[in-house]
Amino acid sequence: MEQIHMEQLDEQLERVDRQLLELLSERARIAQQIGKLVEKSDPVREKEKMERLIAMNTSPYDQATARQLWGQIIQASSSPRQAGRHKSLLVSRKSRNEDTVVKLGEIAVGGGKPVMVAGPCSVESYKQVREVAAALKQAGVTVMRGGAFKPRTSPYEFQGLGIEGLKILKEVADEFGLKTISEIVSPAHIETACQYIDVIQIGARNMQNFELLKAAGDVRVPILLKRGISATIDEFMHAAEYIVSRGNRQVMLIERGIRTYEKATRNTLDISAVPILKQESHLPVLVDVSHSTGRKDILVPCAKAALAAGADGIMVEVHPNPAAALSDAAQQLDIEQFNRFYAGVLQSGLLG
Ligand code: PEP
Ligand code: MN
Repeated sequence: MEQIHMEQLDEQLERVDRQLLELLSERARIAQQIGKLVEKSDPVREKEKMERLIAMNTSPYDQATARQLWGQIIQASSSPRQAGRHKSLLVSRKSRNEDTVVKLGEIAVGGGKPVMVAGPCSVESYKQVREVAAALKQAGVTVMRGGAFKPRTSPYEFQGLGIEGLKILKEVADEFGLKTISEIVSPAHIETACQYIDVIQIGARNMQNFELLKAAGDVRVPILLKRGISATIDEFMHAAEYIVSRGNRQVMLIERGIRTYEKATRNTLDISAVPILKQESHLPVLVDVSHSTGRKDILVPCAKAALAAGADGIMVEVHPNPAAALSDAAQQLDIEQFNRFYAGVLQSGLLG
């Protein structure tokens, strides 16, 4: 008798499971349709809807278990929507197959011929920047970097010359016909910076400063976005999406090393990020060999590796007198070392 009853219950359970499966499939299909119609879900409304449902719970499950159960169901049926959204990131190759080419006057970054970006870690004086610029001009390098707003680990370290530093960059760049890149750390300075520099750099420490990313998205000036110190490639791409989604499509990505346990280099140069980013995104990808290694002695092989992996450009720090530099003294090349470095990279034929 008991045996027969058990079999009946088992059958009933199987029937309910089949019905549940059908209902869940129907729910997922409807959620997918909604996903196609709406840009993004409204989490507050979703939560309210779920709470209304849980309030009706009269099952043997307690409220917490019911909430957990529904949480799982809702998450499972909303993931096709999320996957759909991810696929359509504007920075993704899935939404645009053609390479983005960022134009700096005559210079095309991402157009097939890699670019060399060089210059001091910090703008320290007119004389210092002019010396570097003259050397770059002579070497045939057309894009100069130099930090005026310096995000330093310690508040007691040199913080940069600020707007005054941007003015120096402009004056020197105009004299030598160079394009300039400089980091901006506050949304309030973005507009002003556009008067003085050609590319706004967003540094590793600010890769997820979302208000800064939004401000960078609101101007129409090329942005060089550095990978965060511990950022995954996915986070890096989403940070770029913040800028591109606000209409500024001129974004370049730059791998600058990530923090690992390795102490032989300042950071670990993630070479694999280059082909992955080139595959996943249409944006130009550069590699900063100075901040990734923190050394001067392995820059040629690292630059070659980056270019061989498909990088659209290299960034390196150069200072007339690195020993006296106000920041990153250990990693900056002097002018003679830079000339040797550049010749070494040119010799590889990888700069095109
Ligand atoms: C820089 O390029 O000046 C700099 C501070 O680098 P990062 O943001 O990569 O540390
Ligand atoms: Mn530096």
